Amino acid sequence: MTSTTEVGTKDDVGTSPGTSPSVSAGISAVADVARRLLTADGVITERSRLRTYECDGLAHYRVIPALVVMPEDAAQLAAIVRACAEHQVPYVARGAGTGLSGGALPHAEGVLIVTSRMRTITDVRIEDQRAVVEPGVINLDVTRAATPGGYYYAPDPSSQQICSIGGNVAENSGGAHCLKYGFTTNHVLGADFVTTEGDIVPLGGTAPDSPGYDLLGAVVGSEGTLGIVTSVIVKLVRLPEQVRTILVGFESTDQAGAATSAMISAGILPAAVEMMDALAIEAAEAAVHCNYPHGAGAVLVIELDGAAIEVEQEYAEVERLCNENGAFEQRLATDPADRALIWKGRKSAFAAVGRISPDYIVQDGVIPRTALPEVLKAIADLSGDSGVRVANVFHAGDGNLHPLVLFDDSIEGAGEAAEEVSGAILDLCIEHGGSITGEHGVGMDKAKYMPRMYTDEDLDTMQLVRCAFDPQNISNPGKVFPTPRLCGEVPGRHKGAHPLAEAGIAEVF
Ligand SMILES: Cc1cc2nc3c(=O)[nH]c(=O)nc-3n(C[C@H](O)[C@H](O)[C@H](O)COP(=O)(O)OP(=O)(O)OC[C@H]3O[C@@H](n4cnc5c(N)ncnc54)[C@H](O)[C@@H]3O)c2cc1C
Repeated sequence: MTSTTEVGTKDDVGTSPGTSPSVSAGISAVADVARRLLTADGVITERSRLRTYECDGLAHYRVIPALVVMPEDAAQLAAIVRACAEHQVPYVARGAGTGLSGGALPHAEGVLIVTSRMRTITDVRIEDQRAVVEPGVINLDVTRAATPGGYYYAPDPSSQQICSIGGNVAENSGGAHCLKYGFTTNHVLGADFVTTEGDIVPLGGTAPDSPGYDLLGAVVGSEGTLGIVTSVIVKLVRLPEQVRTILVGFESTDQAGAATSAMISAGILPAAVEMMDALAIEAAEAAVHCNYPHGAGAVLVIELDGAAIEVEQEYAEVERLCNENGAFEQRLATDPADRALIWKGRKSAFAAVGRISPDYIVQDGVIPRTALPEVLKAIADLSGDSGVRVANVFHAGDGNLHPLVLFDDSIEGAGEAAEEVSGAILDLCIEHGGSITGEHGVGMDKAKYMPRMYTDEDLDTMQLVRCAFDPQNISNPGKVFPTPRLCGEVPGRHKGAHPLAEAGIAEVF
């Protein structure tokens, strides 16, 4: 599971001992460019400091980059990418490094381009309901900047206090409130984008629609494999007149799932419907004492927002539907502190699991909401058969599961057994018409699962898109695709030169 690349003692960059002289020379050339442009502390080459960046939020993959650079603006970042392109040096963008699929895992013979110094909120235009922000801006800071004007930024990953907007765009991040408000892609209107040749180009814009291909749509969710975003125009959403947060206890996840379906079939669209099962509740209680209903087999955290009169009516309906589906306790948050405590239990659930298990895998899959009872039952069976404990925390409203697969790495074979259960859960998601990732991305970790969802032809077609943006395969190579292909390679069924290429009519790029 662990893949650690040791760093050697090359003169001026941190390449490993086995690195070829030409690769080292390329990285040195990029370091020279960076040193000319950036302050001394924005170029990192020392082994001890490079190690800080060896992983993202998925810490069991570790690779030490050869060079870390921290540009302060788009022009500097573009110049560094240009140098990488000239010397064919791979690079990886990194925002806050909270990704959970190894997307920002460095390349051992490449440059890690960190955007943490690009943290300016350039413009907040309340009258247009827009903000323009640099990629390193922390998600929650956008809301903090807009709140005085009565607005906020809706996509709210649970990591929103630390993750960056650039990372959110690259992962098309979701969050608890995406059920009602949509994912990042629904809130990004435009971006400045550094191509793999180092040009800065605008994508999208403030107009509601742009003619031509939706290149912004291709970039959102592309996990840094097409280029780097250096400025983002985001939508701002009006703060709701009223918010009600309700904590509901059920005896089982079946009941909680049925209540979720009942609410949505009744035409109610809560801002959030989050579910936690008994094991996840136990972990959250141990960590943050969130005072969830005692003895619950599942809880729902339901949030209703909007006009006060509408919320009032929906609340009455939700209360009734939860009771009809077996709720044994319902608690409406009485004040902001109470609301924060309810959310604290949910938002700290991943880390809280560390209280009940030394190691765990955070899985991320998505299924149609109606398949929840069946899939949860199948996960329980998998857990029972294998003896591997699984805690479930998830965005129930949109069927986005986050099974936490628990294990103790000090026990021989436990990690492998957990991986097996984790993979089998993704198979269940696919079988039920879902996908191998709901919001955490493919990155390094899930590239191996892509063939379970897509045919070779599908993957080849995606590679063509990638090659159109990144013909040299230097922007976050080795991520997303299980078998990286050079852009000149002829994919799939077409073995040998294509007849059009042979005739000189078309070019293979
Ligand atoms: C406790 C916890 C809870 C989480 N909860 C959620 C959740 O509810 N919903 C959710 O969706 N995710 C969640 N995540 C995952 C993670 O926070 C998100 O994926 C987030 O968007 C990553 O942002 P980052 O700045 O940390 O990006 P990084 O981890 O630094 O990078 C992520 C990917 O984006 C690319 N990238 C970064 N910046 C740029 C850029 N400027 N241009 C192009 N590519 C770039 C990187 O190369 C990498 O592929 C959670 C993570 C943790 C640790």
